[in-house]
Amino acid sequence: MNRDRLTRARRSWNMSRIRGKDTTPEKAVRTLLHRMGYRFRLNVKIPIQLRTQEKRKGKPPFVTKYVRPDIVLPKYKTAIFVHGCFWHRHRGCKNCTTPTHRRDWWLKKLEGNATRDQLYQRELRKLGWKVVVIWECQAASRIPIQKLETRIKAALNKALQTLRLSTVHHRAPQREMN
Ligand SMILES: [Zn+2]
Repeated sequence: MNRDRLTRARRSWNMSRIRGKDTTPEKAVRTLLHRMGYRFRLNVKIPIQLRTQEKRKGKPPFVTKYVRPDIVLPKYKTAIFVHGCFWHRHRGCKNCTTPTHRRDWWLKKLEGNATRDQLYQRELRKLGWKVVVIWECQAASRIPIQKLETRIKAALNKALQTLRLSTVHHRAPQREMN
């Protein structure tokens, strides 16, 4: 009986693969961006410098880490993270649960994830990146995805404005000199 169930699950998994139906939230966001006409890149590694905790003789107090956003829009200098509500602690979300078995271990792990997310996002912003966090529950069904579309459009328009402004600021002194 058990084997039968497995086989059935496996078969439907295979079918979903054949149809190319990948329902992960990340895929949903990629599909949405594509439909909206945005160009994006995947597997981008952005180096950040983090201050090290331990003292290292003769070595700089910084280490290089690489942040891998789920989606990067180079033109907008925008990094998008599609976060699982459980693993990344979506506060106030019904999926932000803590397992009761080995609770302390889980808490430490999950809170650690959330702290690292905050740190990485702060560092990216320091480097002039715009950061958009999309939670899996926001990419899950049709109605949230419409809201998401509006939100993404607004965020990217704002990112573009900021980039244009910083370009104008760079040019401004030159114009004054002429
Ligand atoms: Zn959530």
